[in-house]
Amino acid sequence: MRKEDIIRIEDEHLVRTYQKLGIVISKGKGSRVWDIDGKEYLDFMGGYGVAIVGHSHPRIVEVIKKQASKLIICHGSLYNNERASFIEELLKVSPKSLEMVYLSNSGAEAVEAALKMVRKFTGKKKFIAAVGAYHGKTMGALSVTYSNKYRAPFAPFPYEVEFVRFGSIEDIEKCDFSNVAGIILEPIQGEGGVKIPPPDYFKAVRELADKKDVPLIIDEIQTGLARTGKMWAHQHWNIEPDVMTIGKGIASGIPMGVTLAKKEIALSLKVGEHTSTFGGNPLSSSVAKAVLEIITKEKLEERARLMGQRLIDGLKDIASSSRVVREVRGLGLMIGIELRVRFQNVLFESIKKGLLMLYSGKNTLRLLPPLIINEKDVREALEILKFSIINEDKRRYIEQ
Ligand code: PLP
Repeated sequence: MRKEDIIRIEDEHLVRTYQKLGIVISKGKGSRVWDIDGKEYLDFMGGYGVAIVGHSHPRIVEVIKKQASKLIICHGSLYNNERASFIEELLKVSPKSLEMVYLSNSGAEAVEAALKMVRKFTGKKKFIAAVGAYHGKTMGALSVTYSNKYRAPFAPFPYEVEFVRFGSIEDIEKCDFSNVAGIILEPIQGEGGVKIPPPDYFKAVRELADKKDVPLIIDEIQTGLARTGKMWAHQHWNIEPDVMTIGKGIASGIPMGVTLAKKEIALSLKVGEHTSTFGGNPLSSSVAKAVLEIITKEKLEERARLMGQRLIDGLKDIASSSRVVREVRGLGLMIGIELRVRFQNVLFESIKKGLLMLYSGKNTLRLLPPLIINEKDVREALEILKFSIINEDKRRYIEQ
C-alpha cells in the first residue's frame, strides 16, 4: 500500500483520538524501527514503553510462531498449560504476598480489575489517587486519572476520588478515610512528567495504609518489568503493595494486562463477577513467560540501571550548557527532560534526525527506550538530542 493511502485511510476512518506524528512505521528490530521508505529510527518511544526486550526479539518471534501453530485461544473456563506456567514464573518475581493473578488485555483493564477487587473487598466506594496520575481511560481507570482534559467530557464517574499531591504524605493524612476503598499510586508518574517522589514517601504511605486498614494499589504498568533498574519500581523504597497492576511490555506487544493481589482481596470477586474473553490466552501467556525469561537471562535490570545512568549523565551534561533545559530526571531507563519551552521543536527536530521519543504534558520529553539498548544507541541518542536542544537554544535565546 502506498504511504499516502495509508495516511489517508487512517486519517479519514480511524477515530481521531491519537496525536499523530506523521510517520508510517512498517518494521522493527531491537532498538530500531523503520518507516515505509526505509528511513531508520532509534526508538526511544519504545512502542509507548512496551518494547522492553526490543522489537521482534528472536526468542519472542520463535515463541509466537510455535504457540500460534499450536493453540491461540483457550477461554478462562478451561485450564491451559501456557497460562499456568506463566503464572508460576510471574509469582517467582513478584512480591511474595501477592498470590493471586487476574489476566486481561491492557493496562486500563488491569486497573479496572484492581479497583473492583478492593471495592468489593472493603465494601467502600471512594479512592485516593494522585494529582498528575495516569491509570488509563476506561471509566473506572479514568475515575482515578487526574487530567481534566481526559475527564471533563465524561463525568460522572463510577468512583468518587480524592486527589492528593503526589509526594505529600500530609495530604493523604488529611483525607477522610471513612469510605475509602483504596489508595492507588504510580511509583513514578509517567504521563504526569516522570515525577519521582521523595525517598521516604512510599514507606509513609505504606504505614498509613496499614494504620487505616486500606489496600494500597501500586500501578507498575509503566514502571514495572525492570524499566527503572529494579523488577518493580516500588522495590526502590522497600515496600510491598496489596494489589499491583502490570501491562505495557509484559507480552512484548501482544495485548496483556495483569492484576496481582493478596489472596483475601482477590477472593472477594466471585465466579462471573469479572471476566474477559481473551484474558490469559495461551498466545499472550507464552510470550509473557518468554519476556520474564529474557529479563533475567539478559540481565535487563542491570542494563537499565547502567544505560539509564549513561543517558542521564549525558543529558545533564547537555543541560549544563543549555538554557532551554530546566531539569533532567529519571530512574533506570525512564527519563524525563523538562524544558522551559514547549517540547514540539526539540521533538520534531529529533524525529527528523532519526530519534523517536515520547512527551508528557507541554514541556517534558520522555524517554522509554527498550532495555536492551547499548552504548552506541546511547551515544547516538545523545548526539541527536544535543543537536536539537542546541538549535532550540539558538532559536529561543540567541536569535532574539
Ligand atoms: N497505568 C499507567 C501507569 C500507564 O502508564 C498506562 C498507560 O500509559 C495505563 C495505566 C493504561 O494502560 P493502557 O494504555 O494499556 O490501557
